[in-house]
Amino acid sequence: MQRMGFNLYFVSPRKSPMMSAPSPSKAAPTPSALVWFRNDLRLSDHPALATAAKSGKPVTCIYIVETNASLRPLGGASRWWLHHSLKSLEASLGAIGGRLLCYHGDSEQIVSELVQRLNIDEVHWSRRYGGAERDVDARLKADLKARGVAVESHNGSLLHEPWQVLNKSNEPYKVFTPFWRACLAGPAPERPLPAPEKIVSAAPDPGALSIDALNLLPTKPNWAADFHKYWHVGESAARQRLEDFITNSLTGYGTLRDVPDAHATSRLSPHLRFGEISPREIFYAVQMAREADKIPAGDASKFLAEIGWREFSYALLFHNPHLATRNFVSKFDAFEWSEPKASDLEAWQRGRTGYPIVDAGLRELWSTGVMHNRVRMIVASFLIKHLMIDWRVGEQWFWDTLCDADTASNAASWQWVAGSGADAAPYYRIFNPIIQGEKFDPEGAYVRKFVPELKGVAAKHIHKPWELSSAELRSSGVELGKTYPHPIVDHGFARIRALNAFQALSKS
Ligand SMILES: Cc1cc2nc3c(=O)[nH]c(=O)nc-3n(C[C@H](O)[C@H](O)[C@H](O)COP(=O)(O)OP(=O)(O)OC[C@H]3O[C@@H](n4cnc5c(N)ncnc54)[C@H](O)[C@@H]3O)c2cc1C
Repeated sequence: MQRMGFNLYFVSPRKSPMMSAPSPSKAAPTPSALVWFRNDLRLSDHPALATAAKSGKPVTCIYIVETNASLRPLGGASRWWLHHSLKSLEASLGAIGGRLLCYHGDSEQIVSELVQRLNIDEVHWSRRYGGAERDVDARLKADLKARGVAVESHNGSLLHEPWQVLNKSNEPYKVFTPFWRACLAGPAPERPLPAPEKIVSAAPDPGALSIDALNLLPTKPNWAADFHKYWHVGESAARQRLEDFITNSLTGYGTLRDVPDAHATSRLSPHLRFGEISPREIFYAVQMAREADKIPAGDASKFLAEIGWREFSYALLFHNPHLATRNFVSKFDAFEWSEPKASDLEAWQRGRTGYPIVDAGLRELWSTGVMHNRVRMIVASFLIKHLMIDWRVGEQWFWDTLCDADTASNAASWQWVAGSGADAAPYYRIFNPIIQGEKFDPEGAYVRKFVPELKGVAAKHIHKPWELSSAELRSSGVELGKTYPHPIVDHGFARIRALNAFQALSKS
């Protein structure tokens, strides 16, 4: 079962729109500056756009749905988000005199052709940190420079560049706490830049596609129909989210952030993933609120440390370009994962494992496009340690179904749970889905929301419905094996099996 938003790549291979573009007009247009938007779909604090705007030249703004063979196609939920984010960017660029041109195809080919056809003499983009993306950018940069085009990459996604945060031996940190301490002790992040008030747009390109023609939205079936109930997409929505969070929820974040039904976290992750807001804007907004005594220092630090985990994940990715496919700790290469049993995997994906907190998380993911962080850890541990399925299988599922699916944070977090990652959970940490449920969802409010067939079960049994007596099952309207599944694996058995397997590896 897959969302397969990206099957469009395979069913209708397109000619690059650049191939069918009309021939250039006779009089060469004025040279313009190109801004290639990627994971930075905003106007504020956008160094690439600000620099191009300052050049005084007409600015050509583009987005490419990249189909380069070396790049990982976006997952279905990310494509849904991207569609709406591009609409928002198109509108905000329009409001300052700009225009967004969209393309679909091989980005090296498209940018290279555009530069020639539209008479572009300088190119700007925000840096990316995955190995394959960096290779694309490096090749393109070398090619354009050789043709006399100025190319400048900018920091549009991070507080600090990964190569700026190194330990005393000039090596990357492998543990989060010293990494984040070094970030905080080093130079302050650059101050956010204002959005340009006006840009002069370059001429339209008849070879460009409309956002709708990018076919990013699911249709048959439209599994994202309800996403709008949970999300407002785009830069101004992101800014509003941040303001609401600082005003209403940041106080108490440190204690409530682990409670999935408390709505105590920022829900900024998809906005950050698509760069609708920058971490610098978040960092300084929180600092200002703290300095004005509007929020407690402890909660502010705890929240900023989570932004720090994002930075750490990017640093790990930068120094380990294959983080999403290769174990960070190479001895895990010898680990013998189970061949995923289709029925187990499907039960996990659909939220029918028989463990209510696990099922609630996976159903939250399916219906909203995100999952609470605590529950992400529980469901990931369940897949890896209870079902002994390779972390990469879970990473791929999240990649397809999360609106915030992120090259760095997803891979780093899955490896953290598996124990194969940096600063990872020790092998003997096997989340007990019953205790986790009782601790972080004591009244069962989260479970009842996403697993409505357990609505009638009392709090003391909601995380272990198999312990209900026949009379209690009847009165709560639950028929195990029919309305709600029996556990697909016994917790005690699974725990011992995983302990033995992971302990053997840790001793090898
Ligand atoms: C198995 C697993 C997979 C994950 N996959 C992703 C992913 O694809 N994309 C993603 O953005 N996060 C991922 N996370 C991290 C985390 O779960 C989400 O960032 C968080 O739930 C988003 O909710 P929020 O914005 O309300 O977070 P908040 O608690 O409000 O945190 C603020 C921001 O800090 C960052 N952040 C918080 N926790 C982490 C973390 N552990 N690692 C890295 N950054 C963090 C996010 O950008 C988040 O928006 C994953 C965690 C696990 C355990």
